[in-house]
Amino acid sequence: MLKHNVFSGYICAFLFCLFFVRESDAKELLDITPDLEQGGLVRGSVPPGYQVKYAGQSLQISPDGTFIVGLGRDAPNLLVLTVINSVHSKTDYSFSVKSREYKVQSVTGVPQRTVNPSDSDALRIRQDSRLVKEARRGSSGSLDFLGGFIKPLEGPITGVYGSQRVYNGVPKSPHYGVDYAALTGALVFAPASGEITLAHPDLFYSGGTIIMEHGFGLTSSFLHLSEILVSVGQRVEQGDPIGKVGSTGRATGPHLDWRMNWLNVRIDPQLVMDTLPGTQ
Ligand SMILES: [Zn+2]
Repeated sequence: MLKHNVFSGYICAFLFCLFFVRESDAKELLDITPDLEQGGLVRGSVPPGYQVKYAGQSLQISPDGTFIVGLGRDAPNLLVLTVINSVHSKTDYSFSVKSREYKVQSVTGVPQRTVNPSDSDALRIRQDSRLVKEARRGSSGSLDFLGGFIKPLEGPITGVYGSQRVYNGVPKSPHYGVDYAALTGALVFAPASGEITLAHPDLFYSGGTIIMEHGFGLTSSFLHLSEILVSVGQRVEQGDPIGKVGSTGRATGPHLDWRMNWLNVRIDPQLVMDTLPGTQ
């Protein structure tokens, strides 16, 4: 009797899988945001219970099958995702990724020691970068990012993602944030809900700095702040004030530099607002 039950169970599972795979093949197994470009955030979904691999790593997937992938500034022109179904059969999907052209932006008048750091400054820079890496390493199961992203403040955009920066005449690494000009003391609001993972009053380059995680390794960083209104471990809702604009660190005047990462991949906050729009 037991044997019979197990056997018919296998038959049913086999028929079910056969039907399910056919059914899913007929539809589209994998649904992702269209028009991918460098620096963008990909939002995708698969049927619940499926897995997705990217660059050999399994992605975090929500109970309803949603996942995200960040594309770097110089991401290759092909994104390959492997979908693994409930019977462990794998299918590769490829999507083309549009290249972007980045401008060169000259910035003069930043403190010279931030352009040619001394040996002791170099030590501090290394320590800072460890703190920042640690704050962006976590990848919680939170789905805060699905609530969408709004601008952290209103102000003219004075710097964009990806531009090649030349500071006081010296070419440096690209700029990865979006800069909003604002007066010192203007409030900065959380663009999405999340948890604070770093709240530091004075990092060498970025001055007063906040980092928060929105789930699945998606983080926001807020640079050059004059004041910090949150602390590490604190939960913040979209629209909550988190800090005040300043010009601390390597800055020529008061502005907010908002950056976003997917794990260690730097992505463009303006494209994230396109992929995951908030209600503003
Ligand atoms: Zn900036």
